[in-house]
Amino acid sequence: MIIGLRIDVDTYRGTRYGVPNLRNVLAEHAIRASFFFSVGPDNMGRHLWRLLRPEFLLKMLRTKATSLYGWDILLKGTFWPGPVIGERLGPIIRSVSDAGHECGLHAWDHHAWQAHIDTMDPDDIHQSLRRGMKMLTGILGHPPSCSAVPGWKCNDLVLMENEKFPFHYNSDCRGNGIFYPVVKKRKLSVPQIPVTLPTYDEIIGHRGISDKNYNDYMLSIVKPDQLNVLTIHAEVEGISCLSMFDRFLEMAREKGISFVPLGELLPESSKTGPAILVPKEIRGRHGWVSCQEKFPDGGS
Ligand SMILES: [Zn+2]
Repeated sequence: MIIGLRIDVDTYRGTRYGVPNLRNVLAEHAIRASFFFSVGPDNMGRHLWRLLRPEFLLKMLRTKATSLYGWDILLKGTFWPGPVIGERLGPIIRSVSDAGHECGLHAWDHHAWQAHIDTMDPDDIHQSLRRGMKMLTGILGHPPSCSAVPGWKCNDLVLMENEKFPFHYNSDCRGNGIFYPVVKKRKLSVPQIPVTLPTYDEIIGHRGISDKNYNDYMLSIVKPDQLNVLTIHAEVEGISCLSMFDRFLEMAREKGISFVPLGELLPESSKTGPAILVPKEIRGRHGWVSCQEKFPDGGS
């Protein structure tokens, strides 16, 4: 059994502390994965406070958000401008690439993308991707080969802008199989590798799932006859849940599960069918996320 392992890095704190922690843990287990970096200003505090409404407060309590994310993340960019992550922490990002992991773009400004994607025009989207690509290319010494939008907030405009960059694939949605996205009846050239498994914050505290049985639950939904793609967060599994994640890797190894960077899941392109993206609400996550939906007549 194989799991494509993806690590999203959303914040300065996640990059500064979570990324080196995960790089070390993955080295101990001899695992290579895909890291997706946010490299522009860290305004995530603004994002989290913007969501202060009853159901989000409940989620904060359920997941113990301050211990999960840290007060500095909750406040970052709220009262003072957020630091530009790539300018301060380039060597940490570079060390991940040097260790043999796949490195992709997550965001220029993670907060701005999540807050404004619904009103961003093609030029706004292009500029955001371009700024992130420029920063990450400078850090890595070569362009990243893949990307994953923040919060699975993708749309047809994003898919069309993705094509203008040298990506081998994008991972912008939730779904169940690798596919070529179809926009305006045209099958695009860059495949999507969807995330198939839920994230920690989506399921913890629901249906009797706690830190005690979380790893067992996750391993129970990994199946041999399906695409398995897991997203973890540098801010969560890399810091507050680090020892639990270390144990997860150990338990997975005992079950004969191996982990690969997402790029290694890419099949022969002839085997990859078309699909479209639709916004949907999913359990445990606020607002819409892009989901893979079967393309009715096989595409063009
Ligand atoms: Zn993210």
